Amino acid sequence: MFAEYIWLDGALPAQQLRSKARYVRIKNSDKIKLNTFPEWNFDGSSTYQSTGHQSDLILKPVNFFPDPIRGQDHYLVLCEVFTSDGQAHVSNTRAQLRNILELGGAALESWFGFEQEYTLFLMQRPLGWPEKGFPKPQGPFYCAVGSEVVFGRALVEAHAQACVQAGLAFYGLNGEVMPGQWEFQVGYRGIEGEEVSALTISDHLWIARWLLHRLSEAFEIEVNFSNKPVLGDWNGAGCHTNFSTYKTRDPKIGLKAIDEAVKFLSKKHALHIPLYGAGLRSRLTGEHETCSIDQFRSGISDRGASIRIPLQVKQQGWGYLEDRRPGANCDPYLVAGRILATIANIDEKLVNLGREGALGDTIEIENNFMVA
Ligand code: ADP
Ligand code: MN
Ligand code: MN
Ligand code: MN
Repeated sequence: MFAEYIWLDGALPAQQLRSKARYVRIKNSDKIKLNTFPEWNFDGSSTYQSTGHQSDLILKPVNFFPDPIRGQDHYLVLCEVFTSDGQAHVSNTRAQLRNILELGGAALESWFGFEQEYTLFLMQRPLGWPEKGFPKPQGPFYCAVGSEVVFGRALVEAHAQACVQAGLAFYGLNGEVMPGQWEFQVGYRGIEGEEVSALTISDHLWIARWLLHRLSEAFEIEVNFSNKPVLGDWNGAGCHTNFSTYKTRDPKIGLKAIDEAVKFLSKKHALHIPLYGAGLRSRLTGEHETCSIDQFRSGISDRGASIRIPLQVKQQGWGYLEDRRPGANCDPYLVAGRILATIANIDEKLVNLGREGALGDTIEIENNFMVA
């Protein structure tokens, strides 16, 4: 069978997915474990991860999933990148999340759920947009049905099926406010005993993104994770991050724990923003269901806040909260890591988050494609 080894490259300001396949001999398909898949190497000088002189980097399998594209007995193998002397590579953000979990993050028993928005493009324009000019203003497209207002459903449906077949905690999907824009969610689904920890769900999000890119090849549509694909009066694309801890889910102290988490998050706003995606300033304007990048605000049922507490959570007195700041091109390992480090109050000096300046506010790329 084939194992598709998938990893994150070193591209800045947003890391991209890479993958390559190898044949692995399977003797007993019932007994597949992580160590069924050997470590492998790759040319880091072609992925912005090393220089040509010392190009070999190591792919270490850390999670695997049935491959819904090649089918039965084939696998997708998620890998972390290590240097040849066994150190986690500087681009290995998953290792940073593991570190935060060990330092106290895991004790929170957190559950995560990401809402991944994205935009489909065809010939440099969002799918469904007229060749010249613009579609009718936003309004009829969110959760729409019908070919006048829905563009790209075939890919979106194929992706949903693939995610389920791969065993991801796929929660749902919907058409978005801007024509050509969609959302899917992965994370907590209310299924008892399902593993929805920060690490697992962040892995699932990266695999779901890979599947979307992979399937888009056959549709000849481009999947775009830009935070603000079209400037002007058009919604950007985010990656709302929902999370809860054993405390926020406790009916006795839930709301108090949520308030405490919000207070911690508010103090670290400036530290969070640089790790929440590239070009975030053009998305977090204070309009289009966002809070301004320069403000921090929480609110019940408030889609113009940085943190939203769902109405139902307020009413029942416990549950989860939604961080609305992360952009569509964020790295879930960094976002989840940052949130957990903050609410577990882990000493900042112990936490190595992000590459020095690499993902920082100073590199504010304009990641929009078009100006409306
Ligand atoms: P929205 O109303 O913001 O559009 P969605 O319905 O798109 O929300 O997505 C809800 C998200 O919340 C899902 O990703 C789901 O996994 C997550 N979620 C729901 N309950 C919890 C919980 N208790 N802890 C963590 N995440 C949760
Ligand atoms: Mn949503
Ligand atoms: Mn949405
Ligand atoms: Mn949301």
